[in-house]
Amino acid sequence: GIRLEDELVHIQQFLAAAEIDYVLQGNPKLSNTSLITENVLSMCIKEAVTNVVKHSNAQSCAIIIEPTRTDLIIKVKDDGTGIPGNDLYFKGHGLQGMRERLEFVNGCMDIVRDEGTTIVIKVPNAFK
Ligand code: ATP
Ligand code: MG
Repeated sequence: GIRLEDELVHIQQFLAAAEIDYVLQGNPKLSNTSLITENVLSMCIKEAVTNVVKHSNAQSCAIIIEPTRTDLIIKVKDDGTGIPGNDLYFKGHGLQGMRERLEFVNGCMDIVRDEGTTIVIKVPNAFK
């Protein structure tokens, strides 16, 4: 398993190698999240960023960490070409796998198609 903070170091290097700008908003040192949930989050962010590198043709990728009173919301936002119409759950296993792992920790995921793609991940706080 891996802490989000450590995973973000790899992600920063991965995006740099792909010549995509990396922006981090919020604090990756999680204090209200169980280890299992943090592991699932790390895996999901890794897959989302891999998708940005593989598919989006983006110039920049932002990871936005937003704690609320009851949940932790993490967004992976790119300014690329967006997900083509039918590709959402049919072409690969990445998005589907993220959704299944998040369900396992009572989390969920939304895919927002705006200027590019934003993956919105929500997990509950472990200690309220
Ligand atoms: P796998 O993850 O199984 O290796 P994959 O990356 O093709 O394969 P998914 O991660 O499920 O599969 O993504 C499904 C499809 O959605 C992709 O094939 C791609 O067309 C599109 N996609 C996903 N993320 C992005 C993104 N950030 N920008 C543009 N298209 C995307
Ligand atoms: Mg993928």
